[in-house]
Amino acid sequence: MTELLYLEDSYLKEFEATVLEVNSDKYVVLDKTALYATGGGQPHDTGKLINEGKEFNVVFVGKFGGKISHEVDKPGLKKGDRVKGILDWNRRYKFMRSHTAAHIVSTVIHNETGALITGNQISEDKVRVDFNLEKFDRDAFQKYLDKANEVIQKNLKTKTYVLDRDEAMKDPNLFKLAKTFPEDIKKIRIVEIGDFDKQADGGTHVKETKEIGKLELIKLENKGKNNRRMYYRLVDS
Ligand SMILES: [Zn+2]
Repeated sequence: MTELLYLEDSYLKEFEATVLEVNSDKYVVLDKTALYATGGGQPHDTGKLINEGKEFNVVFVGKFGGKISHEVDKPGLKKGDRVKGILDWNRRYKFMRSHTAAHIVSTVIHNETGALITGNQISEDKVRVDFNLEKFDRDAFQKYLDKANEVIQKNLKTKTYVLDRDEAMKDPNLFKLAKTFPEDIKKIRIVEIGDFDKQADGGTHVKETKEIGKLELIKLENKGKNNRRMYYRLVDS
């Protein structure tokens, strides 16, 4: 099992690790990592692994068969090697801002309409949100984003902590947006954004909501029965 350093400190930009295995010369499993693997609507980090002065670019990070695999751009790493890992921080920080914003937008829409979020995809220039909603009032969505911007401006502090599964399950609010959690997960990480939002979540978040900046609506799409889609982006405020 790889220790996921970003769960403790999402601002960690460098780390030291040991190579546990290398598959097909380019898929590297480490004992610990600060690089996020694609999941939960947030894309993987990029960065590099350095061993004895030699640099290996990490071009993809994914979870395969329960293992976090770092795809590097050239062969050369082997089991037992010590590496220094460095994140592409600009990319990650933007995803942290977008991901934290996604919590706020989802919760505003949920509170205002009761809609459930069915999909959420962050990319470098925009965020896509899909939700289940019968009535589609296009004008209302600018208001929802305005509300989300008000929440951001309050500069709420985020915090994370871990609960035992049984305890977490007692609070249905924690799971309003998440898919069902696998039975084998016994400890559940909770992310709180001030007193506004609380969710079970394994992602990376900013410490204070003002770091997000401002959200701007790009477009709305009607994707058929009850299926609505919104795109927005971050602008520096
Ligand atoms: Zn999150």
